[in-house]
Amino acid sequence: MIERAVDGVLIVGGGYAGVHTARSVRRAGRRSSIVDPSGRHDFVTRLAAVAGGTAPMTDSSAGLEEFADDVILGSVTAVRDGEVDLDDGTTLTADAIVVTAGAVPLKPPIPGIEHARPLRTEDDALNLRSAIEDHDAIVIVGGGATGVQLAGAIGAAHPAKTVTVVDGSDRLLVGMGDATGRDAERILRDRRVRLRLGDDVDEILPDGVSVAGEELVGLPIWAAGFTARADEFGLPTDDDGRVVVDRYLRVDGWTKTFAAGDIARHVTADGTELAMSAQIAVQAGEVAGRNAVRLLRGDRLDEARLAHRGWVLDLGGHRGLAEIGPVTLTAPFFDLLAPALHWAIDMKHLVETRGLAGLTDRPGA
Ligand SMILES: Cc1cc2nc3c(=O)[nH]c(=O)nc-3n(C[C@H](O)[C@H](O)[C@H](O)COP(=O)(O)OP(=O)(O)OC[C@H]3O[C@@H](n4cnc5c(N)ncnc54)[C@H](O)[C@@H]3O)c2cc1C
Repeated sequence: MIERAVDGVLIVGGGYAGVHTARSVRRAGRRSSIVDPSGRHDFVTRLAAVAGGTAPMTDSSAGLEEFADDVILGSVTAVRDGEVDLDDGTTLTADAIVVTAGAVPLKPPIPGIEHARPLRTEDDALNLRSAIEDHDAIVIVGGGATGVQLAGAIGAAHPAKTVTVVDGSDRLLVGMGDATGRDAERILRDRRVRLRLGDDVDEILPDGVSVAGEELVGLPIWAAGFTARADEFGLPTDDDGRVVVDRYLRVDGWTKTFAAGDIARHVTADGTELAMSAQIAVQAGEVAGRNAVRLLRGDRLDEARLAHRGWVLDLGGHRGLAEIGPVTLTAPFFDLLAPALHWAIDMKHLVETRGLAGLTDRPGA
């Protein structure tokens, strides 16, 4: 076993929470190291557009060296307070660690689930993009934000293909307002996307999906949820496998280790659980990075005040949906604004994490 001490803050995972942790640490004048298997930051919020064919392939990632002082290539297999094990047998120790390893596609016990293509990483998106080009029909399981954005993008980029969205619920975008769900339905139907709502999937086939005994032929894609697998790392979790953190985002009962982003159970000030989203990962990463530095300095930690500000979805072809606070930006005018807003949020993320170079040297520019 090789043991290596890391100076400053050690960050596990270079996603939205990870790079915003690194930004916070840099702003506080401390050193950050990110350990990540790919060494790249995937722009997950752009992956539906990349996979569907409405955004260039170069829009999907950037090297992590742009975000942190040091990048350690490796996959973390276990986390203990103040140390992590890597898959190559190395143990990294640090006085402050922030775990931001995200989530992976859920794999419920549906027969044939292994046939469904996932969409979470840059590799997934690039593989899907070429598989979609090779198929005349596509069946997307899941009518949430990922499935709706992907269906919209495919419908916009490939109008001749048959796209079907399957969801067990009787409406799209459960978790968002009724008006937003109806708008999503309208935009997708305009694109000739078929909706098969209200019945659960019985089986995933190599070339289709069976729903209530009916076989829908097409490339099967899984967009029906993600799961954190924090228990695999030995972290204390809730029933959904998300890390339990205290109000400072420190792992419950631990002293040197924080968790932020999809891997952790985040709540608002009044205790309401927050959905997995990039905006919450960004807010939590900022707090965790700040608190990791405060811990190193022996300062009092800040309480996290995380808040859901709204949803902005890009459905490709200059159409989108937005719900900001209590306001739903609905058709016909506002759905044209939503993609611009989505783009502006992505650019803000780039500028904040990479500085102005993020704008001039941005992916796809
Ligand atoms: C297609 C799609 C579209 C989306 N669109 C939106 C949107 O428009 N708006 C929105 O708010 N949210 C959106 N989301 C959700 C959002 O992308 C996630 O909530 C966000 O990425 C969470 O950030 P994170 O840092 O927790 O995880 P991630 O961004 O997934 O980053 C996790 C990082 O951890 C690394 N990692 C994983 N395992 C290990 C390990 N064992 N050791 C070390 N590193 C590891 C990974 O390589 C990755 O870099 C979308 C999700 C998908 C899939």
